[in-house]
Amino acid sequence: MPLPPPTPAATTATPPSVPPSAAAPRTGTAADAVALLAGRRVTALTGAGVSTDSGIPDYRGPDSPPRNPMTFQQFVGDPAFRRHYWARNHVGWRHMRRTEPNAGHRALAELEARGVLVGVITQNVDLLHEEAGSVDVIDLHGRYDRVVCLSCGHVVSRASLDRRLDELNPGFVESVGAAVGDVEIAPDADAVIETTAHFRVADCERCDGMLKPEIVYFGENVPKERVARAFAMVDAADALLVAGSSLTVMSGLRFVRHAAKAGMPVVIVNRGQTRGDPLATLKVDAGTSEVLTELSRSLPPV
Ligand SMILES: [Zn+2]
Repeated sequence: MPLPPPTPAATTATPPSVPPSAAAPRTGTAADAVALLAGRRVTALTGAGVSTDSGIPDYRGPDSPPRNPMTFQQFVGDPAFRRHYWARNHVGWRHMRRTEPNAGHRALAELEARGVLVGVITQNVDLLHEEAGSVDVIDLHGRYDRVVCLSCGHVVSRASLDRRLDELNPGFVESVGAAVGDVEIAPDADAVIETTAHFRVADCERCDGMLKPEIVYFGENVPKERVARAFAMVDAADALLVAGSSLTVMSGLRFVRHAAKAGMPVVIVNRGQTRGDPLATLKVDAGTSEVLTELSRSLPPV
């Protein structure tokens, strides 16, 4: 969608028509975000919305159906859940591997190269920021391309596990792949594979422990050390830019609260409401690809 033409408020110093208040943030355009962020070092917090233009569905977006994601407790506590999860993941992860960064990812990488962006804290596990060239990225909720043993902590690549799962389940991907198609490309998606009953799960090669994608599930905490690094990244900036997150879960919202409490400007770019809106200095209700591209075009080096 093209950017709207600049409004008078954006091209002059005229105050915005919507006054800031505790309940409703000042809303504006990409140009307003440029005006607010110019000259500041920025840390970005990104969510599923930045990856929708890469074809990864945002299960919390305004048009998404209600969902009931599997929890960590279900995964570790119920072998049937675990088998079903791995069966879906075995099909789905290869779709994730084929996705490519979009204009929003590329814009953030450019802003980092120019010294505007301190780094990116992302709630996505798709690694598209890294692929776009972002260097300082904190994968808050983990990454889809690694698997960890819950007993001994041994980490292996998802690709190496793929070979083992293929040996244990010959023909599985081919038999269900077409039926699953592009539906199942998020690691915690709820698309149902009906033929998982015979799927064989792989255990840790070192200790026979339970393997789990290195992804933070619902009901699980982000590792403390990672949270501390993310707070430090926020503190290293002069402003926080939230892009494509409804901030539904506290793991992301806490950084907005932290920045607002410290008096830092908070800009939220998201289609639809977010839980951080009352704390935002400026809200841009628009797609991240367009707005981030405009920011990378217009923000001067810091
Ligand atoms: Zn192990």
